[in-house]
Amino acid sequence: MARYTGPVCRLCRAEQKKLMLKGGRCRSDKCPINKKRPAPGKDPKARPGKRSDYGIQLREKQKLKRIYGMQEKQFSLFFERALRMSGITGENLFVLLERRLDNVVYRLRFAVSRSQARQIVLHGHVTVNGKRVNVPSYLVRADDVVEIRESGKGLVVIKDALKEYGRSGIMPWLSLDPDTMKGKFLAAPRRSDITDLADIKEQMIVELYSK
Ligand code: SF4
Repeated sequence: MARYTGPVCRLCRAEQKKLMLKGGRCRSDKCPINKKRPAPGKDPKARPGKRSDYGIQLREKQKLKRIYGMQEKQFSLFFERALRMSGITGENLFVLLERRLDNVVYRLRFAVSRSQARQIVLHGHVTVNGKRVNVPSYLVRADDVVEIRESGKGLVVIKDALKEYGRSGIMPWLSLDPDTMKGKFLAAPRRSDITDLADIKEQMIVELYSK
């Protein structure tokens, strides 16, 4: 299926949840979710209908897939990989998603959104352990060093995104030197570490794919 190119706020409105797809706007009063805009096509006065188990599971999967900016095929491949790993499948899935290079670039504050991070990677501005990597789904390992190349160090989008670092810091499984634009993936996070996505019910996604 083709990549979704429509208005991304519509995706959040469909889930009635902030998926943080647009960077600064997501933290501002302009966010349609803050304004309590209804889901697309829904009458704001209509009473919410009861969802089936399948409907609830599907929505959880769609939320997580959209947060990480993935298409169905790639997401299901990640799930299959998580299934083959030892441990709890839902938690394995989160670990794999967090190890994606575009996600690490976003988490290191080199980009204000995962889609922007994806562009930065695709345009070849990122190295892993000194080697240029332009594959957003590349899986980063513990102790890998992720750095912005000289070609990207002057980019305003990256400099602006890094200003966010001073305000809110970064996740505990990462370290960053904002002056050299060099970060490190210290270790894969545990599910409980991913606090900003604590409300995602990954068990529902496991149940959906187990059907
Ligand atoms: Fe979602 Fe951000 Fe748009 Fe709000 S501003 S609806 S969080 S993409």
